[in-house]
Amino acid sequence: MRKPLVAGNWKSNGSYAANQTLITDLMGPVGELGRVDVAICPPFVYLDQVAKLCHGGSIALGAQDVSDQDRGAYTGEVAADMLREMGCTYVIVGHSERRTLYGEDDTFTARKFAAARQHGLIPILCVGEQFWEREEGITESVVARQLDAVLALEGIEALAEAVIAYEPVWAIGTGKTATPQQAQAVHAFIRTRLEHQNPAVAQKIRIVYGGSVKADNAAELFTQPDIDGGLIGGASLKASDFLAICKAA
Ligand code: 13P
Repeated sequence: MRKPLVAGNWKSNGSYAANQTLITDLMGPVGELGRVDVAICPPFVYLDQVAKLCHGGSIALGAQDVSDQDRGAYTGEVAADMLREMGCTYVIVGHSERRTLYGEDDTFTARKFAAARQHGLIPILCVGEQFWEREEGITESVVARQLDAVLALEGIEALAEAVIAYEPVWAIGTGKTATPQQAQAVHAFIRTRLEHQNPAVAQKIRIVYGGSVKADNAAELFTQPDIDGGLIGGASLKASDFLAICKAA
């Protein structure tokens, strides 16, 4: 069986004081969970602080983005091996906010995925359709295109150690969660697509759901057969909410 993963994506939130309180409140209870992997993805500037606060505990560290390039003359970029050095296990690539607000496309995202893997990070590859794409009935082709860009560059074996996050863009930060059935349908579509290429990888890979996951809807989502946890935005900023979601996985 796949061990579920619940990852908190803090987005551009946090402060030294707030982070300290939040991590302190999470550390003990998360340590008692056992059957779920828990990760926190703070902004780059807080990685060092959060790494120190999480030291010796069972909360893994992740970043929210990574450069497609190695160290070098790339102003403003943060390279994958810097994230490794910082203690990161995971990195989110291709979040819809990167794609829609900052124009990052499928091939650029695939290069970030490759850079992450090359330096031993576990990429959390985000895929998902916009509202109009769902309305048009092209959800599957959008998700397939996003997935195929990574498969074309890296090959199916590269996904063996990766995580996929299905995040319908219309459900992010809107309070409009996909129904468990809607989410499960897309997760099953992704797994089946991978199955055609490599059944072992398809069975192993964790596909998590993101988009307005809250304490009161997490359990129903996580009990779907192809939903292996969640990528949590807003609700990861409050210890009691995030813990409740972790417990539901
Ligand atoms: P919300 O949980 O705030 O909807 O955000 C989801 C998300 O984008 C996680 O990456």
